[in-house]
Amino acid sequence: MRPRMQVPLLDLKPQYRALQGEIQSAIEKVCASQAFILGPAVKELERRIAEYSRCRYGIGVSSGTDALLVALMALDIGPGDEVITSPYTFFATAGTIARAGARPLFCDIDPVTFNIAPGAVRALIAERCDSRGGELRNRRTGGRVKALMPVHLYGQVADMTALMQIAGEYGLRVIEDAAQAIGADDAEGRRACSFGDVGCLSFFPTKNLGAFGDAGLCVTRDAALAERLEVLRVHGGKPKYYHALIGGNFRLDELQAAVLNVKLPHLDAWTDARRRNAAFYDRGFAAAGLADAGAGPADARPESAVRTPWADPRGRHIYNQYVVRVRERDRLRQHLAEQGVGTEIYYPVPLHLQQCFAYLEHRAGDFPEAERAARETLALPIYPELSDSELQYVVDSIAGFYR
Ligand SMILES: *Cc1c(COP(=O)(O)O)cnc(C)c1O
Repeated sequence: MRPRMQVPLLDLKPQYRALQGEIQSAIEKVCASQAFILGPAVKELERRIAEYSRCRYGIGVSSGTDALLVALMALDIGPGDEVITSPYTFFATAGTIARAGARPLFCDIDPVTFNIAPGAVRALIAERCDSRGGELRNRRTGGRVKALMPVHLYGQVADMTALMQIAGEYGLRVIEDAAQAIGADDAEGRRACSFGDVGCLSFFPTKNLGAFGDAGLCVTRDAALAERLEVLRVHGGKPKYYHALIGGNFRLDELQAAVLNVKLPHLDAWTDARRRNAAFYDRGFAAAGLADAGAGPADARPESAVRTPWADPRGRHIYNQYVVRVRERDRLRQHLAEQGVGTEIYYPVPLHLQQCFAYLEHRAGDFPEAERAARETLALPIYPELSDSELQYVVDSIAGFYR
């Protein structure tokens, strides 16, 4: 039987249709100028995104992944260094740490927010590191623990008050992986990217602000760091052809910047729509008797079939993803596919169990909350243009499965 509706996980076409004319003329302007590399559109985007993220400087780069990599390079993190991060995130977070020559040092997540747990970071430092002469060393490897890379997963800011406190105590640099969190605020109204040394953003098409291909940006309040990022972006040459540093080609395309400049003024309205959709789901699952929304953090009600994401009511979760914990996750996902509802698992294998990180010698059970999240979570459609009837159809399809 054909399903009554099709609700994809993400449909970018309605957003494009609404802005088609403006985007086409912005692209045409770049074509007419034939200035494709680090032109005025890149400069304008850097200024506007830095302001939006409440930072001083913006450095446009080729992707969110390259934003992380060049941030690590700018902070001089390399062989012999270690970076504390979450094992429950997109691969690039730890992938770039390894590519910089450093070692990812994983810490388990908070089961309610899915973000790195400050308590786990403290425990790791207390149990496995020595702090001497302003340096933190991993006792087993001898490596120097140099930085902390929190991820604001799904669009909610990690517990930066506690994490910045730890970073201050141990002299750690902080790189925020804000690829999923542009415009997210914490409970004190502080914005993602405004806490650490560098904030890293992605404009991959599925992010809240998506380009027409790959693009990213680093933001910082530190003038010297901004200068290093800018130089590393063009192979480390300054002046051109004179290299004190080894960088790479990490440039943001002028065409991508032109598209993003058209989209940026709409970002807050899109985020508001995502937040409305999330509230619709929260109410809908509660009304269907599947979850008691508002009862408190997800883990406080482990008996319900659907545990809706907990968002700090004082903060601004931007819902790059709306991720529920559910019973019988894989069977539910199959059922939803048959009903025409698109879903995704972010992420099925935590990073400490990835084959490429076998050399870190982790075993299943090392980070139980990350592993449980990988087994129990499912992302539902949340994009801004979803209608109430589509959202209700998703709720009804899930209710039908548990009935
Ligand atoms: C998307 C993403 C990245 C990488 O961004 P790209 O632009 O795809 O390279 C890094 N970290 C997280 C958490 C992401 O979601």
